[in-house]
Amino acid sequence: MRTGIFGGTFSPIHNGHIKAAKAFLSELSLDVLYVIPDRIPPHKQISGNDDPWLRLEMVKKAFEDEEKIVVTDVELRREGKSYTVETLPEFTGNGELFMLIGTDMFLSFDRWYRFRDIFAMCSLVLMVRESRESSLRAEIDAKKAIYESMGAKIYELTAEPFPISSTELRAKIAAGEDTGEYLPECVRRFIDEKGLYR
Ligand code: ATP
Repeated sequence: MRTGIFGGTFSPIHNGHIKAAKAFLSELSLDVLYVIPDRIPPHKQISGNDDPWLRLEMVKKAFEDEEKIVVTDVELRREGKSYTVETLPEFTGNGELFMLIGTDMFLSFDRWYRFRDIFAMCSLVLMVRESRESSLRAEIDAKKAIYESMGAKIYELTAEPFPISSTELRAKIAAGEDTGEYLPECVRRFIDEKGLYR
């Protein structure tokens, strides 16, 4: 059994996340992919009012037609910061574990809480967020070599990047700009109904 893990704040979930999740499923031939919204992200500050349960609902809507994708509240049920190293043991009975992360998180992975323990529990799967010609390439390769020397197993998706962030989308929504290119219709409707990011 091959199990994927994809954690994040998803505030909001966008087509960059969705494209990465689907590429992860198919390129790694996963049997199941668990998408895990965090309660409190350890690596950044959430701006404004945040209701993690609303984010969970939004992420569920985005993936409701995907049979192999399971959106779980495992981190929302835990108090305090959502450390990945404390989440992974929930999945250790699920065969081989692979964790998807984007470039930003990959480059700063060595600042994650107990990151060496994470290397021992799962393989990392990198999805680049910028174009391949990016000036970050050298930095990515250097980090890869360092992490591998510490025992990490690292794969990289070949799918073309879809460069967008939740931060940019929150700004677009607040400014009343069109977000059709970046958000699935069901997510846009949910954000509208709940009055999020205004
Ligand atoms: P923010 O702008 O609020 O920091 P974000 O867009 O980076 O949010 P997160 O929820 O923090 O979204 O991201 C969760 C995971 O998805 C991280 O590993 C991140 O690197 C990855 N990710 C986010 N956007 C993309 C994208 N466009 N392409 C590939 N991976 C992405």
